[in-house]
Amino acid sequence: EGSDNDTFEDDEETSMSSAIPSEVDPLDYVYTNIPDTTHILKLDANCKHCKAKKFVSETDGFCCHNGQIELKQPEPIPELMRLWSSMDADSRHFRENIRFFNGHFAFTTLGVSLDENYTNMKSGVYTFRAHGTIYHNVHSFGPSSRPEHLQLYFYDDDPTITHRKAATKQLDQDVVKKLVDILKENPYSQQFRTLGAHKDNLDDYRIDLNTDKRLDQRRYNRPLSSEVAAIWVEGSDLAKRFDRRITLCGNNNERHSIRVTSGAYDPLSNPLFYPRGELGWHPKLPKRNVPWEAVLHPQLVHDDDEDTEGNSRLCVSVRDYYCYMLQTRPAILNPILYGARLLHQWVVDMYVKIESCRLRWYMKNQTQIRADLYKGVVDAITSGETRASVVGVRIVLPGTYPGGDRNMKKRHMDAMAIVHTYGKPDIFLTMTCNPKWEEITNELLPGQTAQDRPDIVARVFYGKLEAMKYMLFKKQILGVVVAYVYVVEFQKRGLPHAHFLLIMDSTYKLIIPEQYDRLISAELPDKHKYPELYAMVVKHMMHGPCGALNPKNVCMQENECKCRYPWPFNENTTQGKDSYPVYRRRDDGRRAKVRGKMLDNRWVVPYNPYLLWMFNCHINVEVCSSIKAVKYLYKYIYKGHDKASFSIDQPDADGNIDEIKRYVDARWVTPPEAMWRIFGFPLCANYPPVLQLPLHLPNMHRVAFNAQADLKNVVASKNASKSMLTEYFKANQEHPRARHILYKDFPGCFTWQKKKKFWKPQVERFQIGRIVSANPVEGERYYLRVLLNHVKGKTSFDDLLTMDGVLCGSFREAAERLGLIEADNTLDDCLNEAEQWAMPCSLRRLFATILVHCEPGDVRGLWDRHFEPMSDDY
Ligand SMILES: [Zn+2]
Ligand SMILES: [Zn+2]
Repeated sequence: EGSDNDTFEDDEETSMSSAIPSEVDPLDYVYTNIPDTTHILKLDANCKHCKAKKFVSETDGFCCHNGQIELKQPEPIPELMRLWSSMDADSRHFRENIRFFNGHFAFTTLGVSLDENYTNMKSGVYTFRAHGTIYHNVHSFGPSSRPEHLQLYFYDDDPTITHRKAATKQLDQDVVKKLVDILKENPYSQQFRTLGAHKDNLDDYRIDLNTDKRLDQRRYNRPLSSEVAAIWVEGSDLAKRFDRRITLCGNNNERHSIRVTSGAYDPLSNPLFYPRGELGWHPKLPKRNVPWEAVLHPQLVHDDDEDTEGNSRLCVSVRDYYCYMLQTRPAILNPILYGARLLHQWVVDMYVKIESCRLRWYMKNQTQIRADLYKGVVDAITSGETRASVVGVRIVLPGTYPGGDRNMKKRHMDAMAIVHTYGKPDIFLTMTCNPKWEEITNELLPGQTAQDRPDIVARVFYGKLEAMKYMLFKKQILGVVVAYVYVVEFQKRGLPHAHFLLIMDSTYKLIIPEQYDRLISAELPDKHKYPELYAMVVKHMMHGPCGALNPKNVCMQENECKCRYPWPFNENTTQGKDSYPVYRRRDDGRRAKVRGKMLDNRWVVPYNPYLLWMFNCHINVEVCSSIKAVKYLYKYIYKGHDKASFSIDQPDADGNIDEIKRYVDARWVTPPEAMWRIFGFPLCANYPPVLQLPLHLPNMHRVAFNAQADLKNVVASKNASKSMLTEYFKANQEHPRARHILYKDFPGCFTWQKKKKFWKPQVERFQIGRIVSANPVEGERYYLRVLLNHVKGKTSFDDLLTMDGVLCGSFREAAERLGLIEADNTLDDCLNEAEQWAMPCSLRRLFATILVHCEPGDVRGLWDRHFEPMSDDY
């Protein structure tokens, strides 16, 4: 947890005391604890290695891994930098049309599917919101009606630039001409222009693009034109000069995609950022102290795969590379940070590149990943997946991959394990980024808005989020928090927000409406008594207007506000019928003009005055009064992943399941999210941490999943015969104390030693245990889980099977002897447990599964007992 942070002032005493001083009006109490100042995210000293600007919230290694990474950045061309940075009319025209200019001068075509609602220049704020994969194609230069992309360069020595003019009619031709001249320094341009002399017999000509150019980018990043491409005539011995190349022909119009691992990917697609053909990331970039020869040595660095990252010990990873390139360094003019919409496109493109490299790694390591699945180390998503015969080939995206379906499921179940241990959350809090925070506006370059700098937006929001955690968990602004979950999300327009669920210590639980009133207001404060707070509520906490005042507001669904505004006036806070509290909203005449309409207390989004004042942004604070509300919130936070995991088990036409492809096809990326992930900021966290406990039958943990696969890889290691479960039995043999503790409670008393694989009889850090899920259809594994949840002190699988001195033949039989299966008890348990975390749609599926596979004795009784949670409509 990163909230231990000594960069905050520790001077004010802030936590809410439980007694209200007698002279304070209880209705006014919530406003009496406003801090003196709002939070300012301070800048730290610049990095002593790479000179990058830093916020105090960022780690030392954030920019360059404490000097391990050192890269030469593109050297600016003065005239181009003027276009990027000045306020001259032609510069502004250049930047306003930057994606058009870049697309015109790019050597490649961009393949991307965009959300047109957010890239339509006519409506609202521009956001480059991309879907699925992104690729860059380079085309051969055979006969065509009009030249495009790299072909246009053939004619650039002609001062009339006729072809470019024809393709850029809506652009300022002086700027086009300037760019033609600027790009004459570009090595690709230099090569391609030589073809201009042969434009009448291009049929015979070929271009070899070098897709494997490597430079020691610590010192030098400007390739010579002879290094990036070669022009030759069919049949001549100039062919095949480069080890890896794309050959383009004058007699066809084939297209080829550029690999993400090619250093040429960036300069070919973004020549205005890399005007001299400077290379982008490639897998053989040495770290600062690694000799250049070392990374070229084929035995040290695997040379056999063009698609994966290099050796991480010696080489700069793709994420680290782009994180380095996105830093602000006062002495360096970095054109990328002036790119505005082109920066949007570039950062989404680079993030997709980073994911491609990672996903490629998962593709190559499926043996190990699938083994984990079959070993019961991870949650099964559905009942089918542990039966290898059911599907053809299954490509698994493991739960460790952030944002994947299995990851969502794991996070959701971890969150529910916390609720299981501590009870339901008390407070739901949402914090939304304010693009007008002065920490953001201070960092903008002349003429920029926050929209142009998703890098700064992401970094400042991260800093504010850390400060919020400090206020909630260390300063205890809302009381003592014993457990929490939070997730960071990105709106469709890209602004980040964070959702927190807080579980309070017993003395700070919110039980009665009077307690809600001490923390939460849903009214405009007195304008004269609290003028600044009043202004902030008007600025950040007024909903809409929507409904009759503005029927087209985004919150409107079927003529109703989905957030139920305007709420009715209400004299006193009450519990509310459907378990949501109804906050006090008095008809006291207070009102404010918001977005053109007069709004009163019916429109105020519930807030905590202290936090609103402290952070100067939209912070919605609400009481969670029932487990139903919590389930709804979890669904909201984890995006109803149940549905996704249902579809994940549907094979394609060939009977195969490819979770990686499904992830990629369903993915949306916006610029601030791409920044967030390139910077390595976390998307979620929970406290206390949850340890997943594997559940496997005897020996199953070392059996690989399918006979023809590489058994030797899985069984080879000496420790392969040990798992948390086998070592739990062993701990029961060795420590009498352990025999009073259930397997699932073990992490609260013992600590799992990952490397040496044993349970150390001490708590190093507190964790909650959670046995991975099992479905009744799985039979023995399911009954093993039932036993482990009820029986303590067993020293082996056989011991667990022994009841009253008799060795049972199966875990089911043992569970029966213990009376755990009588009268469908375990089926009730199974449904009860699922009701804690599963959404109604998956409960209904589970119920159907039980009917088909488990032959319950009393179907009617089971139905009646679980009807309500199954019939919930959310
Ligand atoms: Zn640095
Ligand atoms: Zn509304």
